[in-house]
Amino acid sequence: MVRTEPFTPSTIEPGTAPTGPGGIPQRRVLRTELPGPRSRELAKRRTQAVAPGVSSTLPVYIGSAEGAIVVDVDGNCLIDLGSGIAVTSVGHAVPEVVEAVREQVGRFTHTCFMVGPYEGYVEVCERLNSLTPGTHAKTSALFNSGAEAVENAVKVARRATGREVVVAFDHAYHGRTNLTMALTAKNLPYKDGFGPFAGGVHRVPMSYPLRDPEGMTGAEAARRALELVERQVGAARVACVLIEPIQGEGGFVVPAPGFLPALSQWCAESGALLVADEVQSGFCRTGDWFACDDEGVVPDLVTTAKGIGAGMPLAGLTGRAEVMEKVHAGGLGGTFGGNPVACAAAIAAIDTMRSSDLAGAARRIGRVIGERLDPLVGEPPGIAERRGRGAMQAIELVVPGSLEPDPKAAARIASACHAEGVVVLTCGSWGNVIRLLPPLSISDELLEEGLEVLVRAARGVLAG
Ligand SMILES: *Cc1c(COP(=O)(O)O)cnc(C)c1O
Repeated sequence: MVRTEPFTPSTIEPGTAPTGPGGIPQRRVLRTELPGPRSRELAKRRTQAVAPGVSSTLPVYIGSAEGAIVVDVDGNCLIDLGSGIAVTSVGHAVPEVVEAVREQVGRFTHTCFMVGPYEGYVEVCERLNSLTPGTHAKTSALFNSGAEAVENAVKVARRATGREVVVAFDHAYHGRTNLTMALTAKNLPYKDGFGPFAGGVHRVPMSYPLRDPEGMTGAEAARRALELVERQVGAARVACVLIEPIQGEGGFVVPAPGFLPALSQWCAESGALLVADEVQSGFCRTGDWFACDDEGVVPDLVTTAKGIGAGMPLAGLTGRAEVMEKVHAGGLGGTFGGNPVACAAAIAAIDTMRSSDLAGAARRIGRVIGERLDPLVGEPPGIAERRGRGAMQAIELVVPGSLEPDPKAAARIASACHAEGVVVLTCGSWGNVIRLLPPLSISDELLEEGLEVLVRAARGVLAG
């Protein structure tokens, strides 16, 4: 569905942001230049009020959202190919989620699960235990953010093994707290000047097929990493190997087949735990419930967040029952962790994923993105590859004729998309990757239109 003129007539009055369900038409409508006057006004207020260390991708301020459309405060309707970083996977303002949240808010918003427990928390844990990879006995604990889930995975792994070292990978992203900054690879913007960081972290090379020696298999990449661990740390000191099965902020790096199974096998032989950080890749995003499912890898611990609660802050740590039970009562928890409203949202979101087969939708989205973006690779030069799985897809920008990262091209393409009302995100250790994380409920028509804008932007930037 190609639209030549970006400005289409609208039934929406400027400045009135209609609300769903059904109130927001699922199409791109640009009423003003982006950002419009109201967004510019808010940007001015923001500079006085908001700490500059917190930055935003989009130049517009959001007034409402539904499905795969976000509406800014000037009435512009943008196609959302980012889902607030893989969070609103079921779509914005899904009626089932809205209703569940409303109902729970009216009953109670907080008791603290460590004080007065409630059913929703137990139910989310039951779902996590049954949906995460493996049929073994599991238990879960709930937290507020992905970083907090990762922190707790490390606590559990250290406590259960009596060992201290955490093996993390190049290009990894695990959060912004002190321990998760230590686990995150990239200095700017995440770590610069914020140290010293928590100890006991040992970093090794990731399997990165585009940048690894040609033909390197997953097993060989795993050996490269584990040989370093054995020689520099000693396998007997390793509490856990922590890995994103598909890296998120690091550039949507998909390890070569065999890499994750080899890590898993090494962990089993060494008495270390395999921790899969599925915060970004989980909950149907890659076409399975979890990215580990693709190769049948069964981690000992799994962290979840982002897509679990349709936008309500919630995170989970799920692990083998015999590992989780090594932690004494009171060793895990927090005031807000597993908030009842967030749990209600998660239950409704997970039910929607299942009933609407959003894993199947993710696979279909992946095919559509591949068909549209593969012709761009090498033509015009500047895109080294399109990669990803399901609805977690990216293109990596390089200086033509080399593998030298080209973050400027990525930034210009992303800005051109934003100016046309299509939300795309960048990522990568060098900032040279454009990533797509559309809501899994997006229609083919809207997805095609968003991709059309991206293709045009990429051709324009790379040709110029
Ligand atoms: C986003 C992310 C985190 C951190 O989650 P927050 O909710 O931002 O703390 C951790 N791991 C991965 C893989 C992520 O993508």
